[in-house]
Amino acid sequence: MEVVPVRAFKDNYVWTLRNETHAAVVDPGEAGPVLDYLGREHLKLVAVLATHHHRDHVGGIADLLEKFRVPVFGPKNEPIPTLTQPVSEGDRVSIPELGVSFSVLDIPGHTRAHVAYYGAGALFCGDTLFACGCGRLFEGTADQMFKSLSKIAALPDNTKVYCGHEYTLANIGFAKTVEPQNNALNAREARDRKLRDAGKPTVPSTLGDEKATNPFLRCREPAVIESANKYLGTRLADPVRVFAAIRDWKNNS
Ligand code: ZN
Ligand code: FE
Repeated sequence: MEVVPVRAFKDNYVWTLRNETHAAVVDPGEAGPVLDYLGREHLKLVAVLATHHHRDHVGGIADLLEKFRVPVFGPKNEPIPTLTQPVSEGDRVSIPELGVSFSVLDIPGHTRAHVAYYGAGALFCGDTLFACGCGRLFEGTADQMFKSLSKIAALPDNTKVYCGHEYTLANIGFAKTVEPQNNALNAREARDRKLRDAGKPTVPSTLGDEKATNPFLRCREPAVIESANKYLGTRLADPVRVFAAIRDWKNNS
């Protein structure tokens, strides 16, 4: 199985899982670019996976269903009218045509029932963990998001992280204000800038990269704690409060 990015809107990725003949798509916010890709590659769509209900992730599903009658997997407790297979933590999603299956993780915070799909060494995590950043807290609390990110961080370091947007360079810019002395972060910036200059995606990253550079996964690091304290003008060490502080800082930066 190969995973190919199909671009949608300005900076969304519709992750397309494919072999020679069949494909499944994750978070098709738009149908047009997906239908173009499937047509060009002569692929038959066999499944749609949605991570959360935002339009830029599910807006293309209805049009895809006009052309392909396929199961639509997505979070049980979110308003997605096109859903046919509601899923939550512990469920499995099998795509026999691609010989792959995923386990479902509940990762609320960005939205109230956001899910991720984990399998074949890959994690499709929508707008929860971004490359060097994390999603905004639209429907959840800092506590929920911190728990969701901790659940993701417990997966193997070589897990490939497929997030929903190309936000990496902007995220790295913010990460550097939090942790200016982080060498891994500076190395990542050089590498990812080169990729963007060449018109290539910076996604997927690996979970190991994220743990070394993503401030939202580093809320127990002394340098991150210190920066959060400076931002708030207080003295706190509890990782959830550190997380909330840098999330707030990013919103206002
Ligand atoms: Zn979203
Ligand atoms: Fe999004």
